[in-house]
Amino acid sequence: MKRFFLLSISLLCSISVTAQTQDAIDRFQFDPEITYDTSIPSPKDYLGYELGDEYTFHHEVMGYFEELANVSGKVTFHNYGETYERRKLNYVVITSEENQRNIDTIRETNYELANNPGNVNVTDQPVIVWLSYSVHGNEPSTSESAMQTAYRLAASLDSETANWLENAVVIIDPVLNPDGRDRYIYWYKSSQANVLNVDPNDLEHDEIWPGGRTNHYWFDLNRDWVWLIHPESRGRISVYQQWMPQVHLDFHEQGFNNNYFTMPGTTPRNHELPEDYEYWADVFGRGAIAEFDKAQVNFETRERFDFFYPGYGSSYPSIMGSIGMLAEQGGHSRGGRAVETDDGYVLTLRQRYLITTKMVFQ
Ligand SMILES: [Zn+2]
Repeated sequence: MKRFFLLSISLLCSISVTAQTQDAIDRFQFDPEITYDTSIPSPKDYLGYELGDEYTFHHEVMGYFEELANVSGKVTFHNYGETYERRKLNYVVITSEENQRNIDTIRETNYELANNPGNVNVTDQPVIVWLSYSVHGNEPSTSESAMQTAYRLAASLDSETANWLENAVVIIDPVLNPDGRDRYIYWYKSSQANVLNVDPNDLEHDEIWPGGRTNHYWFDLNRDWVWLIHPESRGRISVYQQWMPQVHLDFHEQGFNNNYFTMPGTTPRNHELPEDYEYWADVFGRGAIAEFDKAQVNFETRERFDFFYPGYGSSYPSIMGSIGMLAEQGGHSRGGRAVETDDGYVLTLRQRYLITTKMVFQ
């Protein structure tokens, strides 16, 4: 159950929806102390609304990332194919401007590190971090979070972010399943009411068949990482195999009553996972939990989600030598812009994307 312990449950039931939502927004500010380079547009500047107020179509998400690449020397924008419905599959590479000037050497050295580690002096080599969003198209807050994450990396003026970008190359794939995402968002926008209705029985909280989870052929792309049946997977893995990241995070959403799932998952695990996997999965999981404790976000860990089947976005990267991780925010297709949980708590889209963003900046 996802519970944000603002107040006792009984008090929650007696206060207005507006008051609950405002209180949650105050608690989930995105690091308000950070100052940003005003020459870099925020998601709001580009989209015309605050992230979380609306859902963002695939082409708008891509437009924002392309704009970041146009205005920032830290960001480059790349295509890796297109879907059956001819939507573009794109990713960005974000790192310091100095690393960007040497990006081909960094990638080639990292490739050598993956294949012949004894040949590489790793002292000056940045870590490669890959972030994947919306492989399931109706788990939509994740791609909203991708925009906030990229904005922080590209525009923040704080020394911690600068330090990260000196020591890491961050690859963001904002929408792994564009056809599924847009199928969900077209349905949602055509069903949503101008007056926000948080009742889970309302039309906008009950996505119609076949839903946006799958791609054009209703195939679950989070089962295709290793088989590469579909163009989304083939294009992505052709780039992935050139980069071979050390860290991979695959962002999902689950039912809106669930607590946030963070690493590690349940057992048994695939025996091909790297030796260091258990240690690092635990380190990253505990980092997330420390942030959740600060923000009073409930979480679950170790109870669910296997890392056995090799076609997931968690286990495939792990078998390739990365620490591949799963993250699951509560919300999913029924979350809408705001929904009342079984606890009587109103979970908003804004909270969902901010909590997922916290997973990166832990
Ligand atoms: Zn999912």
